[in-house]
Amino acid sequence: MDHHAARRDKLRRAVKKTEAEALLVTNFTNVTYLTGFTGDDSYLLVRPDGELILTDGRYTTQLEEECPGLELSARRPGVPMLDAVVKVVKRAKIRRLGIEADSMTVALRDKIAEKLPKLELVPTSGLVEELRAKKDRWEVARIREAVRVAERAFAVVRAALRPEMTEKFVADELEHQLRLFGARSSSFPNIVAVGPRAALPHAVPGERTLGESELVLIDWGADAGQYKSDLTRVLVTGRISPKFRRFYKIVLEAQTRAIAAIRPGVEAQKVDEEARRVIADAGYGRRFGHGLGHGIGLEVHEAPRLSAKSTTVLEPGMVVTVEPGVYFPGWGGIRIEDDVLVTRDGHEVLTHVGKQLSEITVG
Ligand code: ZN
Ligand code: ZN
Repeated sequence: MDHHAARRDKLRRAVKKTEAEALLVTNFTNVTYLTGFTGDDSYLLVRPDGELILTDGRYTTQLEEECPGLELSARRPGVPMLDAVVKVVKRAKIRRLGIEADSMTVALRDKIAEKLPKLELVPTSGLVEELRAKKDRWEVARIREAVRVAERAFAVVRAALRPEMTEKFVADELEHQLRLFGARSSSFPNIVAVGPRAALPHAVPGERTLGESELVLIDWGADAGQYKSDLTRVLVTGRISPKFRRFYKIVLEAQTRAIAAIRPGVEAQKVDEEARRVIADAGYGRRFGHGLGHGIGLEVHEAPRLSAKSTTVLEPGMVVTVEPGVYFPGWGGIRIEDDVLVTRDGHEVLTHVGKQLSEITVG
């Protein structure tokens, strides 16, 4: 059985535990996960005895190539998706249809209810996302590839950094190198933030030059074969100040402790707590204003979350970022981010870009 079919079987078991008889998967990333189909505008109806992809004529060739054997219902041009949904639900004689509450629009839900007044719509949440949180070996291999591409691109860009380069130039160059090394694109718009700009968690690369400050924060990742990587390094572009040295040491210590705590059976919030405690003990608790990390996979932010409130218990196959940071408006910020796989007896750090103080100095 191919791995997509195995995933659909797991989903069927999860649906069975709900009130629903079948699930209409409307989140396109979830459809990709369950079928291997990389297009969009398609829904997947998962029934106890099989599944059917609802798509349109543009995608039939791609579907036959990417998921041979998958039953498909292609609507003709001009036929709305709503009509296609109504038709297949009627034909399958479904009485209680599970819907993805995090994805389906209220408009679509209301229209289905109007067209099929006897149908009971059962909202569900996170059924597919929960499966996606645990990667199989094939997926881990894809993520490793996304890490490898990101690291090679970074090495090339890093070696060529010059004080007169702008944030935007470096970000664009990184995007270019990611693609040259085989990425479809970056996982998200690369962040290159010089000095005070690094205090903004989502700084948009602009016209500041590397030479204007002692530090530059680079947050980047590759989308390689659908799966994503996500890394952050701070590079020292001037003379290391005592302030930088102190903050950097704290963040690196926080990250090291958090990574050491990662193993199956541990609650995500405990991992977050490990990092948060180091930063709080140093007196900068208020400067670490975001969660410790997030799952990566088909999306760059997915389950599980590593945050102060996350009760998710870590399991083998989960891949998470660990990215503590401290931010000082007007001065800058330090964040260090690596991608970590939860293994059967602990963890494996998938990213290998150097992060010791001696390894982050350029020029
Ligand atoms: Zn990142
Ligand atoms: Zn991240």
